[in-house]
Amino acid sequence: MKICRFDADRLGIVEGDVVRDVTPVLEALPPLRWPAPFGDHFIAHLDMLAPKLREAARSAPARPLASLTLLSPVANPARVIAAPLNYPLHVAESHNPAINHGVHMPTHEGFATPIDKYGLFLKSQTGVIGAGEKVRLHWDGRRNDHEVELAIVIGKGGKTIAREDALNHVAGYCIGLDMTVRGTEDRSFRKAADTYSVLGPWLVTADEIPDPGVLDFGIEVNGEKRQRSNTSQLICDCRDLIVRASRVYALHPGDVIMTGTPDGVGEVTSGDVMHAWIDKIGAMDVAIA
Ligand code: MN
Repeated sequence: MKICRFDADRLGIVEGDVVRDVTPVLEALPPLRWPAPFGDHFIAHLDMLAPKLREAARSAPARPLASLTLLSPVANPARVIAAPLNYPLHVAESHNPAINHGVHMPTHEGFATPIDKYGLFLKSQTGVIGAGEKVRLHWDGRRNDHEVELAIVIGKGGKTIAREDALNHVAGYCIGLDMTVRGTEDRSFRKAADTYSVLGPWLVTADEIPDPGVLDFGIEVNGEKRQRSNTSQLICDCRDLIVRASRVYALHPGDVIMTGTPDGVGEVTSGDVMHAWIDKIGAMDVAIA
């Protein structure tokens, strides 16, 4: 099932080039009281809602997908956790001073992987937008880059999750754009600006992607090829990232893990349009304001 959020927080099921408006199913959600639990209320109840969504989609009004403004499929991510330096060819290209600025060096002698040295990092959940919104650049005159990544959406929370159980905690997947300004500042500053975390175009439920480690993906900017890889090239794979994150953070429904970007990162400027795609998920065009 491909689940989208669109226009004024409406809920849809994507079927080819139409969206079934299943917003009334949200009435089945239990009411929230203060204090709200961490995480996303819809994702937390997705297992309960899934049969109702499938049933509603059969007769729900169909809207042309192209006419809708797509928002992030996760409305209230508890966190956006992200992996640095997680594809070998991106590690290699990060020796370029224009990328590392003499501070964010990709070298990791004495460590098995870059993530063993640098760990994961956090992007701001309030920096998340959907495919139909625009990225607004925050640093004029500096290099702002696209990073296309597979994004994992956690469905079932947990602490210290075992590798063999890790994918059972996944609600689904979407495309993530880890927008980044190159510079000396910490990743959590450079990558967490408002609109610098794009999630979309929709959530594909995990049953449609039994193995997230075999997906072709890429990004073009204004029609020019920039990044192209396959998730089989991940240094720390999806299971490993869930294990590592859950050792440190109790995971909540709606936590997002952006898995890292391959080689080919490059600059975007005002007016550009990014076309990002992942096998079995779909594609999205995202504009730079
Ligand atoms: Mn990244």
